[in-house]
Amino acid sequence: MSKQEFKIAVFEGDGIGPEIMTPTVEVLKRLTSDSTAFSLTFETLPAGALWHEKTGECLPPDSVAAAKVCDAILLSAMGLPHIRKADGTEMVPQIDLRIELDLFAGVRPVFTFENGPQILSDPRAANLDFVLVRESTEGLFAHKDEGVVVDNEYATEQLRITRKVSEQLFDFSFRLAQSRAKLLDRPSKLMCVDKANVFRSFWFFREIFEQRAKNFPDIETSAMYVDAAAMKMVQSPWELDVMVTENMFGDILSDLGAGLMGSLGLAPSADIGLDHAVFQPCHGSAPDIAGQGLANPMAMILSAAMMLEWLGETNQCEEASNAGLKLRNAATKAAATPEGRGRDLGGTAGTESIAQSVLDAL
Ligand code: ATP
Repeated sequence: MSKQEFKIAVFEGDGIGPEIMTPTVEVLKRLTSDSTAFSLTFETLPAGALWHEKTGECLPPDSVAAAKVCDAILLSAMGLPHIRKADGTEMVPQIDLRIELDLFAGVRPVFTFENGPQILSDPRAANLDFVLVRESTEGLFAHKDEGVVVDNEYATEQLRITRKVSEQLFDFSFRLAQSRAKLLDRPSKLMCVDKANVFRSFWFFREIFEQRAKNFPDIETSAMYVDAAAMKMVQSPWELDVMVTENMFGDILSDLGAGLMGSLGLAPSADIGLDHAVFQPCHGSAPDIAGQGLANPMAMILSAAMMLEWLGETNQCEEASNAGLKLRNAATKAAATPEGRGRDLGGTAGTESIAQSVLDAL
């Protein structure tokens, strides 16, 4: 069979973005250089708050067009607090890209690993392994640029839940639960997280969830209000498997998930649609530590591992999936060593040392 070539769009971003992207691309090159089944090429594209400062454009249409023809998109952190839009909000090209590419499924894995950080003292929290799926194109973010303050007396925002996107989101989440059942060789569960007791929109969301569940009788389902789900994530997260929720709730709960992992610097993510996918760390551009060599590149490297697994699955390229798994294992192994433990995890290692420890583990 001929070698598969995957072209990767790279957005280096702002703040610590370029510092964590450079070692990630280096790790990917080293990991895949000997593969006979597939190869990766990289195209760096401009976007972000600094780019806006230089050119007046935050997410240039040419960058979006070039990214669309790539097989996958690697995106580092974007946005800077001192560069803002006229209405006072920050530049968020990563959110605009999710909407532009219809990336409705934000996949946020939460896991702990041997000798890694353990935030909860209960021994059952030593091997956490669940996934939060955050709808990433609508919900409270659907009208994010249209909020209004009226007469300086009150402010309103709108939330939108559509049948089409909710059906796609739930079907994706059920299939994810099915693939986890197969991979982990055990039954799988999916929980809908909402606020259906108070808001009509969330009751609609819940109804669609229950309708789609009928097509996946092999997956056990449940539903929980978001406040109770937040408490469950702290009190008994080992009982969770796959959770699916609206955009804003997912934004908040995914940082809670990162907290359970020990640091935002460890938490990877993928934003997946029907035609495109973006892989980026859960954290922001961390301007407080930018330029000092302190940023932990693990979340970016683990996001790259998710990209390889996704490329493998969507292109029937087993070697790419295996490379993703190998990279994830190397990264978690490295994160358990002093050379791989960043300051955000109570260690002393800087970006370079952490990246080298991943290469050593590979
Ligand atoms: P956003 O809203 O864009 O997600 P944020 O305001 O939540 O961003 P972050 O940029 O994610 O903020 O940073 C939050 C804190 O976590 C900061 O103190 C930052 O230094 C730290 N942090 C974030 N990412 C990393 C990383 N990769 N390595 C080390 N520390 C990090």
